Amino acid sequence: MIKPGTVIVEDTEENRQVCRKYCRACPSYRQNSLEQYQPEELFCAGGRSQAPSKKEAGCFCPACELFAKHSLAIGHFCTKG
Ligand code: SF4
Ligand code: SF4
Repeated sequence: MIKPGTVIVEDTEENRQVCRKYCRACPSYRQNSLEQYQPEELFCAGGRSQAPSKKEAGCFCPACELFAKHSLAIGHFCTKG
């Protein structure tokens, strides 16, 4: 059995499509216009957004199937990486 937190999220187009359903709809993403910065999505795999200032306004990650599948915790990967 693999320990929680040891399964790395792969940067694939399939995973990006899953991510878009959540990150792009979330209030933090919209308020901080994260689509203008890299990485644009899949922060749990690629690290935090390069947006200069980011306010946390809620996170939809806990609803994402990749969040459960990879035993991720907390969320807000766009600000915390
Ligand atoms: S856990 Fe969050 S950052 Fe990772 S794919 Fe899901 S919605 Fe995107
Ligand atoms: S990581 Fe969480 S807070 Fe950041 S954009 Fe994705 S769902 Fe929103």
